[in-house]
Amino acid sequence: MTSLLPSALPQPLPAGASPEQLEALAADLRAAGLQPLRSSGELEQLAADAFVYSPVLQPLLQGRRAQVGVRASSVEQVQAVAAACARHRVSLTLRGSGTGNYGQAIPLAGGLVLELSGLRRLRTLDPTTGVFTAEAGILLADLEQQLQAGGRDLRLLPSTVRSASLAGYLAGGSSGIGSLRWGFLRDPGHLLGLELVTLEPQPRRLTLDAAAAEAINHAYGCNGIITAATMASAEAVPWQQLVLEFDAWELALAAAQRLPATALLLNALCVLEAPVAALLPWPQGCPAASGQGHRVLLLAAPDALPALEALLPALGGRLLWQAPQGQSRGIPLRELCWNHTTLHARGQNPGFTYLQLLLPQPEAAALAALRQRWGDDVLWHLEGVRAQGQQRLACLPLVRWRGREALDALIHHACELGCLLFNPHAITVEDGGLGGVDAEQVAAKARYDPAGLLNPGKLRGWLEL
Ligand SMILES: Cc1cc2nc3c(=O)[nH]c(=O)nc-3n(C[C@H](O)[C@H](O)[C@H](O)COP(=O)(O)OP(=O)(O)OC[C@H]3O[C@@H](n4cnc5c(N)ncnc54)[C@H](O)[C@@H]3O)c2cc1C
Repeated sequence: MTSLLPSALPQPLPAGASPEQLEALAADLRAAGLQPLRSSGELEQLAADAFVYSPVLQPLLQGRRAQVGVRASSVEQVQAVAAACARHRVSLTLRGSGTGNYGQAIPLAGGLVLELSGLRRLRTLDPTTGVFTAEAGILLADLEQQLQAGGRDLRLLPSTVRSASLAGYLAGGSSGIGSLRWGFLRDPGHLLGLELVTLEPQPRRLTLDAAAAEAINHAYGCNGIITAATMASAEAVPWQQLVLEFDAWELALAAAQRLPATALLLNALCVLEAPVAALLPWPQGCPAASGQGHRVLLLAAPDALPALEALLPALGGRLLWQAPQGQSRGIPLRELCWNHTTLHARGQNPGFTYLQLLLPQPEAAALAALRQRWGDDVLWHLEGVRAQGQQRLACLPLVRWRGREALDALIHHACELGCLLFNPHAITVEDGGLGGVDAEQVAAKARYDPAGLLNPGKLRGWLEL
């Protein structure tokens, strides 16, 4: 059985910068009006990420950090940092908010980390089309608020919406709230263009159209520095948060298959097996989970509520709680789903890790086989998604850590059953979500980062050239 779990860092990696290189780099940064961050506290802060959810990645990435950090708040400053790195041949890793799950923003070979939280403006919002351009470091929650003031909404959001940045989501994320309607970030039609800075002695500031931007989307910042993104938005809807409960797992699963096939306007659907629901905090007013009922969380348009309530008896479920999004107290539903489920479960028991799979259709047979073989070692958390135009169920099961062999065996079993793996225990872009080398991503790196200085070690296609 070939292991799908890394046991060493990808190779070859460049050596870290020498003290002379670092001094020369720091002098250039200061000359550009930038403050190099060199203290161990600052560098440690710039090396945090959620890779700790993976006991496979933890020993490989723990302690990896930059030799110098810097924060930029204008595109000109980004160009100055890129020029200095290219001139002194120091590697550069980009950082948004550092909420990635696989160490995407952790430098494997030292060098410089560039944080863009100062680039945070919504530059334009077209009131007719809803197309907007926003800067790389804007927090998604701030962007959402500003779009909503114009009657628009982000189509897709990670459950880390409150802390994650726009460019970090594009370069490191994939899906989330809204995926039930809008699919995945890499689906054509979401990202309409990028402003990009190249890593060269004279960095270019380029405007890429949708086709050219595709290669930068989900490339971990390995092939260009995003300074702004142009994206499509959705009409704003005052989403209602609903918690449904089912006595039998099969009924909850059937509801998760049936509801997206109706004309109800839904933005998110999350299914939590009873023992998972029992590990989570619940919004104020929502009954705590007893460990018996399986829960389905929905974000639904207000006009969906009467029809949903009429459907529920036939589905065998009951409505436990409802409240408008943004107006409930305690935890909002969107911070109970996607990888927030894992976060809360690990808060109760750090012995949990997780997987990310797209289930084959029909889902019930594969899930039954997995549940039968893995029993209590794997607890089920599903998310409704639209994949290639079809309503499907993805899952982020909680997995009790029993060692690498057991995790490998689970992954192989799931793949044999037809599941598609998005491996959260991988370091490179290709071994995580993409599956294989994307020649366009590698070609973009040759164009925009010819010396290979951006986030070394994360793009396998470049290492294999
Ligand atoms: C509890 C939890 C829940 C999560 N839920 C979701 C979810 O629902 N959906 C999802 O997709 N992800 C999810 N994630 C992963 C992560 O939060 C998101 O992908 C998030 O959007 C990353 O944004 P960030 O600003 O933290 O990026 P970072 O982690 O800082 O960076 C991510 C990647 O983007 C690169 N990058 C950052 N800025 C730039 C730039 N300007 N130009 C080029 N590259 C850049 C970095 O180098 C890195 O490779 C979750 C993580 C956690 C811990």
